[in-house]
Amino acid sequence: MPSISSTIIDLPRLKIKDSELQDDRILIHMEPDLRFKPRCSYCESKARPNRNHTREIRDLSCFQHKVHIKFAYREVICHQCGIVIEKLNFVTPYARVTTRMAEAVGVMCKYMNLSEVAKYFDLDWKTVREIDKYYIETHLEKLPLDNIRVIGMDEVACKKGHQYFTVIYDLERNQLLRIVEGRTENAVSQFFEEMGDHCKKIMAVAVDMWQPYTNVVKKYCPWARIVYDKFHIISNYHKIIDKVRRREFSQASSDGKKLLKGSKYLLLKNKDNLKESGKDKLEAILEHNKQLNVVNTLKEQL
Ligand SMILES: [Zn+2]
Repeated sequence: MPSISSTIIDLPRLKIKDSELQDDRILIHMEPDLRFKPRCSYCESKARPNRNHTREIRDLSCFQHKVHIKFAYREVICHQCGIVIEKLNFVTPYARVTTRMAEAVGVMCKYMNLSEVAKYFDLDWKTVREIDKYYIETHLEKLPLDNIRVIGMDEVACKKGHQYFTVIYDLERNQLLRIVEGRTENAVSQFFEEMGDHCKKIMAVAVDMWQPYTNVVKKYCPWARIVYDKFHIISNYHKIIDKVRRREFSQASSDGKKLLKGSKYLLLKNKDNLKESGKDKLEAILEHNKQLNVVNTLKEQL
């Protein structure tokens, strides 16, 4: 019958050697429980022990004490994979905390920012970031793609724009469906390949104005309407307004230039959010400049 302490600690395949209290932490020394034959961490088949290594990881705190587990684990020889580490369910290879602690950290990260979580658990924030990343990846449920009707696709830039991901949503249920690495036609095609024949039942796809997205949607979802999302249309239209404004400024007389000074903000902002003085100035600009009046009217219609 297992002792109470090992039942409580519940780290399978290990047994307690001894434990000590050091200031605010409990350090528990553990070693392989030789009743269990080690298994390969890759293929999970039985493997022959080669030698022991030691590692220290954090576990969930006990009362006011932080708990550290220092444990010996076995390097093993697997007949298929060669020399590897034995499989232990309570920790993922190279993680600095137990799986159950990673789970707790991951849940907290849903509600608090990384530095707050790091402070709460007294962990390095980089460790918290790693755990959070792992938690998100392993808990992203792969939702089935066979009952989707309306999709949204958008790009996300990482590493200061050197790397892109495409996020794909079910816009009717507001659920994240997949994250695809890259924003090329090839990268995004993977998603539609996975969806298979159901592609033909997609009614609409909202995309930004990135051409590869449009190309892929046309190829896989021939019946779907392509909807350009409002934010990107408006942002592109703002560029047009600004181009016209600069051209008009360069061609204006000195009085005209005086009038157009500071007009960028007035032309781009929503009219309802302008102060009375701003509204008056905008009226004067539109009254004197036909081109800007046209682009402004079109903007209001948009
Ligand atoms: Zn193996």
